[in-house]
Amino acid sequence: MMKVYKYSMLWKCLFLGVFLVLISCNQNKKEVQTEKENYSNILLQEWAGPYGGVPAFDKMKVEDVKEALEKGMELSLTEIDVIANNKEAATFENTIVAMERSGKVLDRVFAYYGIFSSNESSPEFREVQKEMAPKLSEYSSKISQNEALFQRIKSVYEASKENPLEADQQRVVDLVYKRFEMNGAELDAAKKERYAAINKELSGIYTTFSNNILHDEENYITYLNKDQLSGLSDGYVKSAAKIATDNGHEGEYAVTNTRSSMDPFLTYSNERKLRKKVWTNYYSRGDNNDEFDNKELIAKILKLRRERVELLGYKNYAEWRLQDRMAKNPENAMALMNAVWPASIARVAEEVADMQAVADANGDKIKIEPWDYRYYAEKVRKKKYDLNSEEVKQYLQLDKLTQALFFTAGELFHYDFKPVPDGTVPVFKEDVKVWEVTDKDSGEHIGLWYLDPYARIGKRSGAWATTYRSHSTIDGKETVLGSNNSNFVKPAPGEPVLVSWDDATTFFHEFGHALHFFSSNVKYPTLNGGVRDYTEFQSQLLERWLSTDEVINKFLVHYKTGEVIPKELVEKIKKASTFNQGFGTTEYLASAIMDMKLHLADPTNIDIDSFEKATLTELHMPKELVMRHRTPQFGHVFSGEGYATAYYGYMWADVLTADASEAFAAAPDGFYDDAMAEKLVKYLFAPRNSVDPAEAYRQFRGRDAKIDALMRDRGFPVSVE
Ligand SMILES: [Zn+2]
Repeated sequence: MMKVYKYSMLWKCLFLGVFLVLISCNQNKKEVQTEKENYSNILLQEWAGPYGGVPAFDKMKVEDVKEALEKGMELSLTEIDVIANNKEAATFENTIVAMERSGKVLDRVFAYYGIFSSNESSPEFREVQKEMAPKLSEYSSKISQNEALFQRIKSVYEASKENPLEADQQRVVDLVYKRFEMNGAELDAAKKERYAAINKELSGIYTTFSNNILHDEENYITYLNKDQLSGLSDGYVKSAAKIATDNGHEGEYAVTNTRSSMDPFLTYSNERKLRKKVWTNYYSRGDNNDEFDNKELIAKILKLRRERVELLGYKNYAEWRLQDRMAKNPENAMALMNAVWPASIARVAEEVADMQAVADANGDKIKIEPWDYRYYAEKVRKKKYDLNSEEVKQYLQLDKLTQALFFTAGELFHYDFKPVPDGTVPVFKEDVKVWEVTDKDSGEHIGLWYLDPYARIGKRSGAWATTYRSHSTIDGKETVLGSNNSNFVKPAPGEPVLVSWDDATTFFHEFGHALHFFSSNVKYPTLNGGVRDYTEFQSQLLERWLSTDEVINKFLVHYKTGEVIPKELVEKIKKASTFNQGFGTTEYLASAIMDMKLHLADPTNIDIDSFEKATLTELHMPKELVMRHRTPQFGHVFSGEGYATAYYGYMWADVLTADASEAFAAAPDGFYDDAMAEKLVKYLFAPRNSVDPAEAYRQFRGRDAKIDALMRDRGFPVSVE
């Protein structure tokens, strides 16, 4: 299952581009002189109260955001100037550590900013956001282009090559230096100017790219009449009727041009012609050869990205981007994808054959086309597994699942979760609940866990994890304020929240991110940062505990009878997990390979349409399905740089997940083996980014990860070579 809809812990940093990683992720630096003032703006104020201080979420107001951000940026730039203009020779302490301590006030503002943008958005806030985005981007360039600052970082870096620092200090210096270097700090003045101009031009194109997709999503609605609803669920029909009414089409039913509307329609609608129409609209987004077409923009983006990395002396964008990732270079990432691809398309051929047999038996005189795949796959699924998702839900209660998370954390991490007394910790909505996390053995306070479980207006969709404060010991121990956020439908008072198996899995996934925050043992804030192709591994791994016998027998009980979920039902769920992996893996991999190939190719005369076609032909892409994200709508890669040449990262993390799971499965006490749990925390969670991820994994496993486990997980044959 792809986790593309989930935020990583670094969401705060990503929206400001690469550079702010340095600043906004450093959430725990020591107070500096400048902030001993008493601010009247609540968002700037030092956090008061218990547990090392907590955000005043109950007092935050949108009208304070702009002033707070401006003041926060000003303070942070002043601190940076003091560091850059220090008359003393640059040392680790007066340069790197000083930077680690800077920006604390702005970090506090970002904790509130994050709540406004993700949990409590509003038209008023979006106005502020629009106004402040370019200012925040300017702010980050001011730091990345600060020549005096960089010279000091460089001299600490070079001195450390002569006389190495302690391991964790060396890692901070290496990471900080690399970040500056990768973003043009070494360039001469003329090249720096061009570098900045390219970035500015790109940021405009990224916005246009997203807006074009949004336009095509909003303007290609398919309206159905009451005779065209066959196969659709009551829930789907009700919501389609409401959307149609809201759009002035009373009495009709709207299929919007988004994944959440398209996917169930293609799965259940019996109307083949309409399926083709909905499919065509969706996969043509950004590709309609009109003023909202994205193909020319993509060519421009690829050229600008190439020019920018060439200024830095790199061959191509992929080489530049992957150097500090676990994969290290595009060849390693491609090697993984190429290894899985043949089995993946071979499985598609089997799936198509299964589906064709069902269609033939039904007397449907058709050949499987891309708009038939989901529809017939669903029929095969019913036939093969007979799994009723409504029945499964009755054993998945949110309260019990929350207890299951705590149980898992207790077994693996020795954590204890206790609800904080009402009113002691401020929250931004009454639905938000807070627990104190302590060490079971020593009683030591670890942090607070905030859970915002329910959907509401102004809250973004999906599920995510974030921190308001991260662990560090640079100036005494800072404890963690971590949060999980979901979009469950709030029940009537006294009613349980029943969730699907997928949602329960996601709930464990996001809690994995939270445990990764809580278990950090790093001294320097920079070392809390995530590595894009590694940071989903810990969370994906935690998902595996949901289906352990211990969790099943204690927590997966019927909401009325209290009976444990029947063994046969669990078996069905497990069996069905490899179903349709040909489709899922192939549509994902086609996009991931395309992302990489687009950035390896010479962009000089690139024609996006023919490039996409030629690449798919070369891959022998099965004609019964398409890329999960076709190039003209590949927002991960072209509406910003977050996932450019990084879409492979989900599979990279999945290789580690599958391989690590097999290590647990093989241990004497399986997933609850004490020795394994100790290694898990020590090598895979606690070090965060203070150890090279590949090295950390080797320490855990005694060897590098192999892809065999992933192949077994997906039900693909493992080749013997
Ligand atoms: Zn995640």
